[in-house]
Amino acid sequence: MFNLRLKNRIAELNSELETFKRRINILEQENNRIRAILNSMVEGVIAVDKDTRILSLNPTAQSIFNISQEDALSKIFLEVFPNNDIAEVITQVLNRGELVSKELALVWPVQKVFQVNASPIFESAKISGCLLVIHDITEMRRLETMRRDFVANVSHELKTPLTSIKGFVETLLEGALDDRENSINFLKIINNHADRLNTLINDLLDLSHIESKEIILKKDKFNFAGLVNEVMLGFKSEAKKKEIEISYELPQGLEIIADKSKIEQVLTNLVNNAIKYNKEKGFVRIYSEQLAGKVRVVVEDSGSGIPAKDIPRIFERFYRVDKARSRQLGGTGLGLSIVKHIVELHSGSVGVESTEGLGSKFWFTIPR
Ligand code: ADP
Repeated sequence: MFNLRLKNRIAELNSELETFKRRINILEQENNRIRAILNSMVEGVIAVDKDTRILSLNPTAQSIFNISQEDALSKIFLEVFPNNDIAEVITQVLNRGELVSKELALVWPVQKVFQVNASPIFESAKISGCLLVIHDITEMRRLETMRRDFVANVSHELKTPLTSIKGFVETLLEGALDDRENSINFLKIINNHADRLNTLINDLLDLSHIESKEIILKKDKFNFAGLVNEVMLGFKSEAKKKEIEISYELPQGLEIIADKSKIEQVLTNLVNNAIKYNKEKGFVRIYSEQLAGKVRVVVEDSGSGIPAKDIPRIFERFYRVDKARSRQLGGTGLGLSIVKHIVELHSGSVGVESTEGLGSKFWFTIPR
């Protein structure tokens, strides 16, 4: 009798043990699934308890704050992440039990912009902690700022010649038309501004076409020295006006495979600048260097050079060392950024070495 009861009890215990095992299994699977989700998230996730002690943090959070799991676990949040802005968000969530969403510009550990979403963790209807989801939006904000700056720059560039055109037309209408000599001068100025608008719009259209992903390069094999010769012919009279000596040393057999009209534009923009920003009786020299798997083309000039502080930004849209001088010389501030885009479309790179007052060497590479 006693034996039978004992046997039954053992059977019951075994069955309970099986149920427990199954439950533990299910919990483990659930745990693994959550861990896999957390590990693959691009957002940083940090969980803290009600005393702001760190319960867990996923790999993205570890890399954002440059800290390992072992160094962070069980520590007070502010000890590990000395950031008052995030700590404040956690305090708000723990006090109010409501979700807090905030954009924070952090300077530590790196200068970045984060979208922080913090929500309370409840246990038996009581706040037991806080879950932070941190999204790095630095790149998004940078692109937005770039777009905003671009629109502001374009509007400004278009407005300047338009304001002048309108001003001169009004002066003519108000009576200056009767003064033949002056009115011809005014019309010439209006014509110059209209040309400027035209150049600017053409450059903008070029840039937007090159930047669009749909662009298809028409690559052909062509003789590079022949192309340089053609481009240089077009600049002969411009160079003559300033008595600038143009020379080029290129291997006659140098053939490259690229979109000829686009490379012509690259050369045109670089040579145009080399003449524009040159001194009287200066020189422009074009030569090439063979590198492993690519050819490097250098356009060297004896011009004004570029101050070291401006060099890192010189290929940006609308970036100019001297705005007034560039405008006066008919520049739009877009030439070098067009050069950069075209060369990069060909999987090449661009660069400049320059000494203020002595001259510049603009170069680009094209894979062979
Ligand atoms: P821009 O139409 O103003 O010439 P670019 O994009 O071609 O526009 O050039 C940007 C700026 O870079 C110019 O305004 C000028 O300040 C500087 N720059 C470009 N090329 C040269 C050069 N060869 N020598 C000196 N400065 C140059």
